[in-house]
Amino acid sequence: APDNVKASSVAKIKVVVRKRPLNKKELAKNDEDIIETCSNSLVVHETKLKVDLTEYMEKHEFVFDAVLNEEVSNDEVYRETVEPIVPIIFQRTKATCFAYGQTGSGKTYTMKPLPLRAVRDILRLMQHTYRNQGFQLFVSFFEIYGGKLYDLLSDRKKLCMREDGKQQVCIVGLQEYRVADVEIVKELIEKGNATRSTGTTGANEESSRSHAILQLTIKRSADGSEAKPARVVGKLSFIDLAGSERGADTTDNDKQTRMEGAEINKSLLALKECIRALDNDQGHIPFRGSKLTEVLRDSFVGNSRTVMISCVSPNSGSCEHTLNTLRYADRVK
Ligand code: ADP
Ligand code: MG
Repeated sequence: APDNVKASSVAKIKVVVRKRPLNKKELAKNDEDIIETCSNSLVVHETKLKVDLTEYMEKHEFVFDAVLNEEVSNDEVYRETVEPIVPIIFQRTKATCFAYGQTGSGKTYTMKPLPLRAVRDILRLMQHTYRNQGFQLFVSFFEIYGGKLYDLLSDRKKLCMREDGKQQVCIVGLQEYRVADVEIVKELIEKGNATRSTGTTGANEESSRSHAILQLTIKRSADGSEAKPARVVGKLSFIDLAGSERGADTTDNDKQTRMEGAEINKSLLALKECIRALDNDQGHIPFRGSKLTEVLRDSFVGNSRTVMISCVSPNSGSCEHTLNTLRYADRVK
């Protein structure tokens, strides 16, 4: 992408859908692929039963900014979603990229490689276009689990949040690593992902109940030198959201699960409202709805950009969750 991109030329909100391929288990069961894709639209074929138990098909069509089918690589996902916003974070923009969808739909598969590619491009800009201008890049990685914050680069140390009255969010004690090398970032991301909540039930099970937030922050000192304290110029956040189906765990027998479900439900609803408010340029943005939106407060005010990647599973058994994900994405766009 060209380096001199004007912030105004990049859409405020972009909503894309990514469909994963059928997996081995689904193929072994002869599971059907019920999602038909086009360049920016898709059709979900839902099998329904009549009163006399005969089957009929119902089609649901959706249109988005882009629909990425099962053949699209992670590189292409990067080009479509994050690449265009990288240059504008040097221009006082805060951008956020979310992965939304049910557990197993490909959120982590999609999100994991994106920050690394962004770091590569950011460092390239710092070494060429913005050479010797005092820009610095920092990485942090934390998760929100049950409404609480944990540092993924610091052995899940519990963190708390503070606001400084100038709409800046401060997470007290959060480790921020200054980075100048892609390899180091790679290690940090691996470390953080390995530190994500993993209980006795298996990694995917537990991580599906937390939101993982990786932030790339660009700072610069007042006179462009290294001597003065650096101030935040722009931020790029990558958010691997909790499994959207977890928000429905509000009637589970287990109290802990119910509480986590309620918190997830609240945060995904609040997120949708905040993004919608962004688009309407409303003065009031309902951050207070949840920890997730409070933490992202400074990314919702001022000059901000949002990319929502909605991940869907193609198999017929996921139909209901897929439709829920697409309806959510439809409300955001
Ligand atoms: P989630 O984070 O939404 O729970 P994962 O990212 O863990 O889901 O994906 C579930 C499984 O599907 C993983 O084994 C992952 O490697 C695989 N997968 C997801 N998306 C794709 C894709 N686009 N192509 C190939 N495999 C995928
Ligand atoms: Mg995951």
